[in-house]
Amino acid sequence: MTYIIAEPCIDIKDRSCVDVCPVDCIHEFERILIIDPEECIDCGACEPECPVEAIFPEDALPDKWNAFVEINYAFPDPGTINSLTDKYALENDVHNEPIA
Ligand code: SF4
Ligand code: SF4
Repeated sequence: MTYIIAEPCIDIKDRSCVDVCPVDCIHEFERILIIDPEECIDCGACEPECPVEAIFPEDALPDKWNAFVEINYAFPDPGTINSLTDKYALENDVHNEPIA
């Protein structure tokens, strides 16, 4: 299993999760951060750190954000990750408000 980063991270990317990951497996792409599913050790440290609740264990990801399984498993391919994220944001009219 792995943890998955979902829609609330799009264009927010404050990187709070990166600071606490013990194996440095969270990586930044154009509009979202992505967890390397091969390196994640399922420790759960990142989940409570996210200010917009974007991180979930894969088996607890809300159904409405299933598209992010494919996006996260596209790691480490930036072309696929960036294009799938853009496509999702366009189709779902994502406009996440900046956090203070
Ligand atoms: S669950 Fe642990 S290992 Fe996996 S991304 Fe989060 S902090 Fe890193
Ligand atoms: S803490 Fe949440 S919003 Fe910030 S980069 Fe990580 S997943 Fe994205």
